[in-house]
Amino acid sequence: MASDNCIFCKIYKKEIPSSVIYEDDQIFVFKDINPIDKVHFLIIPKEHIVNLMECDTNHQEILSKMLLMAPKLAKDQGLKGFRTMINSGKEGGQEVFHIHFHVYGGSEKLAKL
Ligand code: AMP
Ligand code: ZN
Repeated sequence: MASDNCIFCKIYKKEIPSSVIYEDDQIFVFKDINPIDKVHFLIIPKEHIVNLMECDTNHQEILSKMLLMAPKLAKDQGLKGFRTMINSGKEGGQEVFHIHFHVYGGSEKLAKL
């Protein structure tokens, strides 16, 4: 399931320390090391999936589970609203090639997209 030399696989296996927010048998959630807002965490699957471009209908269940974790955990972190971001591919701003949903918020006003 895990991929060698993938930093996020190492994080969910706890070979690299992280600030864990939530974990179950399929999903791992931890604080972003370089937060862009007061609260900023990453939701990852324990399965090594590269990005959304590699997903198909087989991934529907895990993707919806990950997405539905966002409001639950955002509320736990004290947020009344939040933004989610998924970078896909180098050209899409992705730097870590293990799919992750960014969830962030907490500032007075988010930049308008
Ligand atoms: P992306 O550009 O969407 O691939 O985002 C990768 C994110 O992973 C960035 O926001 C980084 O700050 C974050 N990141 C990289 N290494 C770590 C780490 N060891 N622990 C927590 N977050 C990390
Ligand atoms: Zn991985």
